[in-house]
Amino acid sequence: MPEYTKKDLEELIIGKLRRNFGRDVDEATAIHMFKACAMVLRDIMSARQLKTEDKVQRTHARQIHYLSLEFLMGRSLMKNAYNLGVLEELKGAIEDLGFSAPDLFEIEPDAGLGNGGLGRLAACYLDSMTTLEIPATGYTICYELGIFKQKIIDGQQVELADNWLPVGDAWLIPKVDETEKVHFGGRVKDVWDENGGHRVAYEGGTDVLAIPRDMEIAGYGTEHTNVLRLWDAKSPDPVDMKLFSTGQYLKAVEQQAMAEVIAKVLYPEDNHYEGKSLRLKQQYFFVSATVQSICRKHKAEYGTLRNFHEKHVIQINDTHPTLVIPELMRILLDQEGYGWDEAWHIVTHTVAYTNHTILSEALERWPQQLIETLLPRIWQLLIEISNRYQAQLNEAFHGDQAKVRDMAVIWGGEVRMANLCICACFAVNGVSALHSEILKKDVFHDAYTQNPGKFKNVTNGIDHRRWLSEINPALDALIRECCGGDDYLLRPDAVQKLEKYRDDPSALKRLADIKAENKRAFANYVARETGIILNTDAMFDVQVKRLHEYKRQLLNVLHITYLYQRLKADPNFQFTPRVYLFGAKAAPGYAVAKQIIHLINSLSATINADPVCRDRLQVVFLENYRVSLAEKLMPASELSEQISTAGKEASGTGNMKFMMNGALTIGTLDGANVEMHQQVGDENIFLFGLKADEVAEKKARGYRSYEYYMQDAALKAVIDQIARGFDDGVAYTDLTNRLLFGNGAPADEYMLLADFASYRDAQARAGQAYLDPKDWSRMALINIARSGIFASDRSIRDYARDIWHVPVKK
Ligand SMILES: *Cc1c(COP(=O)(O)O)cnc(C)c1O
Repeated sequence: MPEYTKKDLEELIIGKLRRNFGRDVDEATAIHMFKACAMVLRDIMSARQLKTEDKVQRTHARQIHYLSLEFLMGRSLMKNAYNLGVLEELKGAIEDLGFSAPDLFEIEPDAGLGNGGLGRLAACYLDSMTTLEIPATGYTICYELGIFKQKIIDGQQVELADNWLPVGDAWLIPKVDETEKVHFGGRVKDVWDENGGHRVAYEGGTDVLAIPRDMEIAGYGTEHTNVLRLWDAKSPDPVDMKLFSTGQYLKAVEQQAMAEVIAKVLYPEDNHYEGKSLRLKQQYFFVSATVQSICRKHKAEYGTLRNFHEKHVIQINDTHPTLVIPELMRILLDQEGYGWDEAWHIVTHTVAYTNHTILSEALERWPQQLIETLLPRIWQLLIEISNRYQAQLNEAFHGDQAKVRDMAVIWGGEVRMANLCICACFAVNGVSALHSEILKKDVFHDAYTQNPGKFKNVTNGIDHRRWLSEINPALDALIRECCGGDDYLLRPDAVQKLEKYRDDPSALKRLADIKAENKRAFANYVARETGIILNTDAMFDVQVKRLHEYKRQLLNVLHITYLYQRLKADPNFQFTPRVYLFGAKAAPGYAVAKQIIHLINSLSATINADPVCRDRLQVVFLENYRVSLAEKLMPASELSEQISTAGKEASGTGNMKFMMNGALTIGTLDGANVEMHQQVGDENIFLFGLKADEVAEKKARGYRSYEYYMQDAALKAVIDQIARGFDDGVAYTDLTNRLLFGNGAPADEYMLLADFASYRDAQARAGQAYLDPKDWSRMALINIARSGIFASDRSIRDYARDIWHVPVKK
């Protein structure tokens, strides 16, 4: 029996509408109704959260603090109702009150507080940590504007502001009494008290208030409830009365505006470092508020910070929150008066680091001068940390200056955040087996030889309750029937039992029917939203992810262009009909990525208008790819494009969402694809391309893309056509020159031409396999059955066992 019946929920919703909006149900708009539903669930969760907090305090449990500049939460209404076990009751209540439940779920804006995989991972981990009853808190910034909304106008990306808070704030609980103060700028003064004790004082500078707006996180099948703390920024002085009273009204509110700009907008660059002063302010703002908040609560409980590291783990999601290291040092030294060694011991037993990328353009290297002026005390501490580390390195490497230079924290006027993490964190992990090996062998090799035990792997995972059960109810029903009911929701490995049905014709047929129905549902959605009619008889071949050269959307385009040319040359050319679906946002300043979006749209317009492609080849660029669109698309996908240059994609999680929903993968041996291949074997995946070591080898020997162009006539024809362009008359010579000559970068940096022939073969194999529906269905079933290992519950169990050393629900 659920704790709340439909009737209970109805009464609670009516109460909310009256008290918060002053209306009865018949006067309520859908927005009021959505907000009332959210608030009702929020109350249930916050009551549970208080109990959880009590229990954590009573048992003095060790806590996890997950720091991330991004949490790509998506929508929460259906998710929270699902986790609370009241989804059916809530739907019934909504309908009884005269609203449509599906329409209401659609009203909710995505909480788009992230760019892509890294932010979505943090969201999945919150769900799993809570479900596994780990006392955990997430921390981030309460961005007023999330990831921009994408419109395609004349084939090109246009960005619109994503103002999610007017509706999305229904989930947030402001905790004004837990406000923290964060200091910026000014000068540091050394002060000695009468006993000769050293103190630090600040002269000048500005304070910014950090106000928590907490989002409750419900677990599944448990009353355990955690919190995502979103810090909002406010000025301590709303207006400067001195200026105001002299008539300088605008100037009087300037400081307030300066403070509030910190939480204004999420930086929209994925896997890319931008050395912007406002970004550094965001990082320090959120890190300082978080550390102060954790320390304040710890002291209230224990009266000292001496046992801090026994009670807390601070997990940092990539290097963006690295300033926790000097910030915690600052509190221990300046506020608690501890000596350096004791403070350093506490810090280095508290903080753990997850690396997310080895792309050099993504590595954060903050200019000394920026840190020095914005954070003068932090700068002093960084120098001390750096000097001590360097002395230690000199000794360990017997003065080998090349090694010391590579590993230094401060070098050439820059602070290298990854090196600071390696120096100070008790654990460093990569996010897939391959990626973690590359960290040890390559990027952080010297640090690894010094301290091998520090380096771990935790392969990423996804919340299978959201990404399978919630979004694909028909598949969920099939799994329940075949795998012992809802057991798999808490034991993702139970999906293995599906495999007993790999040769069962009726199960295979049922799986095929589910996919066909999901394709129709998705096609209906696309038709409603865009008017485009997708051919549901063709294979849905999907590449959705951020637009990046290393992810190689352009390789997919080369191949589609190849198919198109074959069709034009010979209308009887035999191949499996395909609908190619793309979805991708480009960082607003990433010109090449934007050109690739434009190219996909030019190609799409030409192909979709050409009668020779009718019922055989269709290309659609889906606008504004985001969590809520992914949720509709994954259940309808048949072929998953995971085609990054081997060695470049740290893990990928999109690949896992597709696999769980029964899409087959065409991909390189990169990131977690390697482990997917291990699970399913050669016969249930379409692998192609160079392997990571072969990519490196080829680069070292001097890769010449031009030779592939000259030697493969079909490839040459494709590239020549892209250079000329398609029916809209837009030429793409910038892109083709990049492939052939480099244009500043190395020619074809991501080796599309080297992998083209192999990709074309893999595409042909996939097309061939699709012609046998039963065989295809069997492969899909095997993929689903072996996808349990990619549930984020497994990832969190790994973190808990290997890094955090905290107990989890059995
Ligand atoms: C899962 C997800 C991603 C990550 O996809 P990759 O293919 O792993 O890069 C990006 N964006 C959204 C909206 C997602 O849901």
